[in-house]
Amino acid sequence: MTGLVFILVGIIGAISKPFGGSPGYGDGDEPHPGYVGLERVPVSDDWFEVHIVAPGVLAISEPFQWQEVVSYLITGSERALLFDTGMGISSISSVVRELTSLPVTVLNSHTHFDHIGGNAEFDRILAMDTEYTRHSALGIANSEVREEVSPEAVRRPLPEGVDPSTYRISPFEVTQYIADGHRIDLGDRELEVVSIPGHTPDSIALLESDTGFLWTGDTFYEGPIWLFVPETDLVAYEESLERLVGLVPRLTTLFPAHEAPKANPRRLEELRNALALVKAGKAEGEDTGDGRIEYGFGAFSLLMDGSDRVG
Ligand SMILES: [Zn+2]
Repeated sequence: MTGLVFILVGIIGAISKPFGGSPGYGDGDEPHPGYVGLERVPVSDDWFEVHIVAPGVLAISEPFQWQEVVSYLITGSERALLFDTGMGISSISSVVRELTSLPVTVLNSHTHFDHIGGNAEFDRILAMDTEYTRHSALGIANSEVREEVSPEAVRRPLPEGVDPSTYRISPFEVTQYIADGHRIDLGDRELEVVSIPGHTPDSIALLESDTGFLWTGDTFYEGPIWLFVPETDLVAYEESLERLVGLVPRLTTLFPAHEAPKANPRRLEELRNALALVKAGKAEGEDTGDGRIEYGFGAFSLLMDGSDRVG
């Protein structure tokens, strides 16, 4: 890619695709600051990058695509959990097989396209029992996701065999529907599902009480948080944030689903306060030019529908 394309990607990204606004490799080859200091695990498919973010927790990122999505492989003594499966542009199951020989269960932070792309490659999938989830499991058509593999969306050639005219999110089969409070036993570690509807009806966080780890999905990450899609319910989102803020005293680390793979739990309080300011009409928003308003709060921003009336 030329410098010009990088600039164009930056401009287009800033306007229409928030994650493109701060691509993983900046305007040169500098890694995303959120990855500096993390140990890299080599894998044979260079579409993905794998970093150790905690003992037994690997961040599997796709830094060359503008969503900059992060999936997590959490390994216990007997089983592993793959929390999200990314874009489905390259085979995440091949990467996972290189990283662990344990049986792998998939669970999604929510079922937006950028987190379920590789689900069809796995035969054990847990999912929240919502209508929204059942609909997502039918797959997502090329017409809705082809922009995600357009030249503007990627910073390097697509993996061999990926054709923008046929790329889609494959349907997948849920093996077990679960609900709030569901516990996942990986042998020597246990994870708990925390239902946090809002961003989507099926959004969850994953809590490991022993370590104070919380995987936040798209409910929180250090970037522009999407709150403008029709399936987002801002009232539910606010309630869910309140629930997460209640967990903060027990937390040590957040693992978000985009951009930097680690964050300070205090950010959840900042996000709750930021949303309250927006709701009260006390935050300064910037028109993004495409019907959305972005409210900046330093490490993150809230990207809302310009016609939304919060509260
Ligand atoms: Zn996402």
